[in-house]
Amino acid sequence: MRIGHGYDVHRLTENRKLVLGGVEIPYSKGLLGHSDADVLSHAIADSLLGAAALGDIGQLFPDTDPRYEGVDSLVLLKKTVLAVREAGWRIGNIDATVVAQAPKLKPFIPSMRENLANACGVDVSQVSVKATTEEGLGFTGGGEGIAAHAVCLLLSAG
Ligand code: MG
Repeated sequence: MRIGHGYDVHRLTENRKLVLGGVEIPYSKGLLGHSDADVLSHAIADSLLGAAALGDIGQLFPDTDPRYEGVDSLVLLKKTVLAVREAGWRIGNIDATVVAQAPKLKPFIPSMRENLANACGVDVSQVSVKATTEEGLGFTGGGEGIAAHAVCLLLSAG
């Protein structure tokens, strides 16, 4: 088995949708990025790539590539899972934490888990999503951005 870690940050800005785990969340701001800037899906994809030692999503899906402009990050996650599968791995479990001062994410977590599990081709029981604030401290606490951490376990498919 192999463990993987992923971390991502995107800046909060006006006139953007807030998408986390493929769920569009009603909020006055959204995350800035070349794709839909779904920081949670990005952290999870990076954890999977990390566990398989396949690089990172910046390498797989460069932000200079017009094909990925505004792309649904669940599509990128699906492609990532395919690459990980081709390398001989299957997903054991994923555990992720979103760090955001606002909005309150708890009501959206079941839908995020469902979307992420579907994109990864696993059962929802294998995908954990948590949310926390940083007590008003730092860039997440000040509402400048949202961060996400993820770890995963890959099992040999052979
Ligand atoms: Mg990102």
